[in-house]
Amino acid sequence: MSDMKIIVQKYGGSSVATTERIKAVADRIKKYVENDYRVVVVVSAMGKTTDGLIKLSSEITDNPDKRELDMLLSTGEQVTIALLAMTLHTIGIDAISYTGSQVRVMTDGNFSNARIQSISTDRIMASLRQNKVVIVAGFQGIDEEENITTLGRGGSDTSAVALAAAIGTRDCEIYTDVDGVYTADPRVIENPKKLKEISYDEMLELARLGAKVLHSRSVEFAKKYNIRLIVRSSFNYEEGTVVMPMEEMMEKFIISGITAKSDEAKVTLRNVADRPGVAAMLFGKMGEQKISVNMIVQSTGADGKASISFTVLKSDVKKTIDICESLKNELGGTSVDFKENIAIVSAIGVGMTSSYGVAGRVFRVLAEHGINIEMISTSEIGISCVIDPKYVELASKVLHAEFLEK
Ligand code: ASP
Ligand code: MG
Repeated sequence: MSDMKIIVQKYGGSSVATTERIKAVADRIKKYVENDYRVVVVVSAMGKTTDGLIKLSSEITDNPDKRELDMLLSTGEQVTIALLAMTLHTIGIDAISYTGSQVRVMTDGNFSNARIQSISTDRIMASLRQNKVVIVAGFQGIDEEENITTLGRGGSDTSAVALAAAIGTRDCEIYTDVDGVYTADPRVIENPKKLKEISYDEMLELARLGAKVLHSRSVEFAKKYNIRLIVRSSFNYEEGTVVMPMEEMMEKFIISGITAKSDEAKVTLRNVADRPGVAAMLFGKMGEQKISVNMIVQSTGADGKASISFTVLKSDVKKTIDICESLKNELGGTSVDFKENIAIVSAIGVGMTSSYGVAGRVFRVLAEHGINIEMISTSEIGISCVIDPKYVELASKVLHAEFLEK
């Protein structure tokens, strides 16, 4: 059986939005079957079905029981698997659909954001051996007590990668409505370039800093299990972008992407005591409340005092301020303030680890266009600047021109 050529393919909501689209997906799968592939397909709910289900629950309550919400949301994917199986049957392809629970996608019990712990491949392999296309509902699993769980919005990507890892295939195709990963958002930059390859770390950084291509956890999983993610469109036969180990990449650009996001706010706790444990206390509390912090900048201490600024999602600002206010006295801080009107523009690339002057070039280009930088943070492969949102398009354009159009 080890000579079976297996491929895992994931089709996102837009790729299966209508029965017409499902027919197109079935035709594509048929081509693989005709080329002797055994195909494992993971699908999302049709189009905006999941949004629709969330809306239904919100008509009943603002605070639905988490178990029941996952029970509801998981139904979207179950519709798609059955329809796709039927469609394949009509074109003479043997296929069988499975829910997450039927193939034992075991997760923790964290409803609406569960993590996959294991998948049993017995049933999948048995069906593949019988020459069936196996269709698995993405985004869903079950916990120890067999409650249905979901993996967080966009989680079908992660289902697909976890399945590829469990089955032991190297390639996992992720079909969407864009034909790959681009150097910038085409809605902002006129002619962004499609990347042939990108490393896991760059992809994670792009996702963290605003690009909405893949579910981050799917990339972490792919990195851990050395799976090549091929991001491509189900609307054409273009090659797409391969998300892969950096060591295997043919070309490494200094900067491979420019992103921008404006869903975060900046919070500053001023003049806290410059002593060990202050940051630990503050960010420890934030972690307990499940608030994720993106950029953090602490000023150099002077006169025994330092200020800490950081960014959080706008939706977490209120909770964050409450935490800061409650710790202010204990930490010796003088005030808490925040600014919601900010944008973060970032330049990301693995090549910057081995080149000089990248940060200087970023700051110079912004300065030449009169864009003031309110906060800077860097990682090994990224530089992010907080700027006024009115400059976000301009900043993206000039950075793209500087690094990607020369
Ligand atoms: N249907 C789910 C969502 O819309 C999962 C997915 O699309 O990956 O978030
Ligand atoms: Mg989706």
